[in-house]
Order: sequence, then structure tokens, then C-alpha cells
Amino acid sequence: MAKRAVTMEKLVALCKNRGIVFPGSEIYGGMGNTWDYGPVGVEIKNNIKRAWWKRFVQESENSFGVDAAILMNSRVWEASGHTTSFSDPKMDCKECKSRHRADNLIEAHSKGKVNPDLMSNEEMETYIREHRICCPICGKFNWTGIRTFNLMFETSRGVTDENQNKIYLRPETAQGEFVNFLNVQRAARAKVPFGIAQIGKAFRNEITPGNFIFRTIEFEQMEHQWFCKEGTDGEYYEQFKTRAMQFLLDLGFAPEHLRFKDHDKLAHYAKAACDIQYEYPMGWSELNGIHNRTDYDLSRHQEFSGKSLTYVDPVSGERYIPYVIEYSIGADRLMLAVLAEAYDEETLEDGDVRNVMHFHPAIAAYQAAVLPLQKNLAPQAKELLGRLKKQFSVSYDEAGSIGKRYRRQDEIGTPYCITVDFDTLQDGTVTVRDRDSMQQIRLPAEKISAFLFEKTAF
Ligand code: ATP
Repeated sequence: MAKRAVTMEKLVALCKNRGIVFPGSEIYGGMGNTWDYGPVGVEIKNNIKRAWWKRFVQESENSFGVDAAILMNSRVWEASGHTTSFSDPKMDCKECKSRHRADNLIEAHSKGKVNPDLMSNEEMETYIREHRICCPICGKFNWTGIRTFNLMFETSRGVTDENQNKIYLRPETAQGEFVNFLNVQRAARAKVPFGIAQIGKAFRNEITPGNFIFRTIEFEQMEHQWFCKEGTDGEYYEQFKTRAMQFLLDLGFAPEHLRFKDHDKLAHYAKAACDIQYEYPMGWSELNGIHNRTDYDLSRHQEFSGKSLTYVDPVSGERYIPYVIEYSIGADRLMLAVLAEAYDEETLEDGDVRNVMHFHPAIAAYQAAVLPLQKNLAPQAKELLGRLKKQFSVSYDEAGSIGKRYRRQDEIGTPYCITVDFDTLQDGTVTVRDRDSMQQIRLPAEKISAFLFEKTAF
């Protein structure tokens, strides 16, 4: 198999130069592991979220969306277990004061052969001592013991300094779906099995963020909770594994760059859990998770809120707390995977190298670019642009040679370039250039809209 041209350095540089992703607060020297999406990036990310929402809410039978508040009653996080157990095992290097995750140190040292998820904190400390795993920053061996570190960002709510209540920035969107189980069920007159989905920001005070937008402290999640009856959960778990994988394949991922990975250690309430991993430039890593969470979430919220979350089957009258199959994927992690998958350097017949992003046409920032062959054709080109913009995201470029303009669009992955030339004035046709094959065809300008609808559908 051909070696992939993509590296993280190339992606970061391309993203910066082409307005896809910029370092956060850059003119102030940045703010570690925060990133801002630029004009091209925000379009791609919105398209990714739209494709996911269409697939898992709008096209799904019995799935409904919510957009819950980021700030929630603190009792939510007690019920979910986040205040007590949402933590990572951290160790500090006493020499250079850098902070590390003990599990990551072991994983890196053993090249993935040892699974720290199966170890207690004491076992991890012993392993690190016995194998003399040194600080990856300064190379010294002088660690503190392992301390657990809660990943939730705290803030406070109150009108005076003396009267402040501790609240949290949500570390996952899922709880917004669980606390709205009754509301959605009633408002949508939903019958179990049904799903609640949400896309929104989540925040985690990660000990070791990094790898560009792979692991950040602020990110977006796309989560879907499927509420079902115990006994049907196994079947739905398998169904969501298939649906999650199919979504990625439909976005254009090569099957050999994706794999399922079962969790070795399950949370005490979970019945089954797996990830889909993607072969990122830095190696195989989690892209999304699928979890059978049993009736844990609703039972806990019933207990802590005092509100009954028991479902009554309208036909049989049976009462039960539904099980939950959770499918959770980070929009930014998916964006990074989409970028890595699309990246290509193609050597052309004349020896020139063409940088091209092979995005699925529905995901590309612009579905088309309108290019007047010469500047004096701008009025006709802009007339076409104005019409297409009402239906699609369309770019316009009149600067430089047509060849250079094609290359600029290739670099941001625009699937179709539509050139208005002198023949357009005569017969109303335009040239349509395909990004991937570089083939050109001529079409009547009034057919472009239908052409793009067909070619860019997801
Ligand atoms: P990891 O093991 O990589 O920390 P996780 O198992 O804690 O991830 P979940 O809590 O299952 O992740 O979150 C669901 C999804 O949210 C992940 O599969 C990932 O796509 C995304 N995600 C989680 N943490 C981050 C982060 N810090 N930055 C970006 N995306 C994240």
C-alpha cells in the first residue's frame, strides 16, 4: 500500500495558511491547546456536524435533538459520578516540573504492549519505578507519586463575592440528554426505543492535551443516546457500532484506516464498550466511542433528582428504567481525521506536485468555486455566483492564472471549479473541472445547480 503523504506538521501548516485552523489567541503568544477555526475550517466543521445531524437525527427513525445548557445544576455531576471519579492519574517531574499522565508514560514506554487501564495507581507507580521510566521532557527520573486530578473546569455563580456557588463547565454533552429524557419523551410523544442527540461544547482540563485538535481542553462532541428496553440492548449496541462505522465510510474514509477496539476495562456500570480508532498521523487513536451504559444514567438521575424516570410501556403497562446505548464522537477529532484522510500530494505528468484535499463534496468548505477566465468576464461570473450562493457554499476567485486558481481550490478541497469564459457569452455554457480527476466538461450554466445538487449530496 502506498505510503501516506500526510504528517501532522504538514496538516498544521496547511490549516494555518489556508484559513482552516489557527492557534488560539495567537497575537498574545497563544493559549496552550486552544485552536480557532478560520473561514475555511468553520465551513468544513459545520458541514461535518450537519452531515452527522442529518444522519443520526433527521434521517433516523425515532431520534430527536436537543441543545442543552453548558452550565448545569451541580447535582447533575454528583449523579453522573463526575465530581468523584472523572479524573486521570497524574505525576509531576520534580526536576523540570512538567506534568504527565502515568498511564500515558507506561503506554509510550511499552510501545502499547502494556495496558495501563488494567492497573491500579499503585501498580502503575511500581511499573514506572521498576522500568525506570524517565521524564520525556528532561530525561530525569524523579517523580512525585500518582495523584488523581479531576478534569472538570470549575467556575462560580453568584452575585456577590461571599455568595458564590461552585458550578462546572460540562465535561461531556451526554448529561444534557439524560436530564431531558422525560421532557423529550413527553413533548415528542416518543415510545421506547428512541434516541436523543446533541452537538455542543465540552471542556476538560486535560493533563496532556496535544496532537493539534485531537485532544484539547475545549472541544465539541456529537452524542446520541439510545434509550431501549433491557434485553434489546445487545442488539442495539451492535447496530450502533455498524451505523457509526458506516457513517465514516460514507464520508470517504478508507476501511483500512479504521478499526474497532473493545475496551479492556469496563466502567462498573457498563455492559460493553468499544471505540472506533482511526490511523491518525501520530498512530491509531480513538475517534469515537460506543457504550452500553445499562440503566445506570437514568437510575442515578432518578435517585439524585427524586423525579421518577421510570418508563411505562403504553401497551403492556410494564414499568422499567431504560438502558442506554451511547454513541459519542468529537467533532474536532473527526475534523482532524477528515483532514488527514483527505490530504494528498500528487505528482503530475510534468513532475509538478499538486496538493489536494479529497474531501467528500458535502464536507468541503465550498461545493464549487466560480472563476472568470479573465477579469472582464467578472459580471457574468458574479451573476452565476449570486444564483449559486443561494443554494450552496461557493467561493469566487479572479486573481492570477486559471491554473494557479485551480491549485488554490485543490488545496482547500473544492470539488468543482466553474469557469466562465468567452464561449459562455456565446452559448451560455461553462467549464466544470473535477478536483480529483482534473477532467473538464462543459455544461449549460443553468444546469450547474442541478449538477451540484446531485454531486454534493450526502
Ligand atoms: P480519551 O480516552 O481519548 O481521553 P475518552 O474515552 O475520555 O477519550 P469520551 O469521554 O468517550 O472520550 O468522549 C467521547 C468522544 O469525545 C471521544 O471519542 C473523542 O472523540 C471526544 N473527546 C474526548 N476528549 C476530547 C478532548 N480532550 N479533545 C477532543 N475531543 C475529545
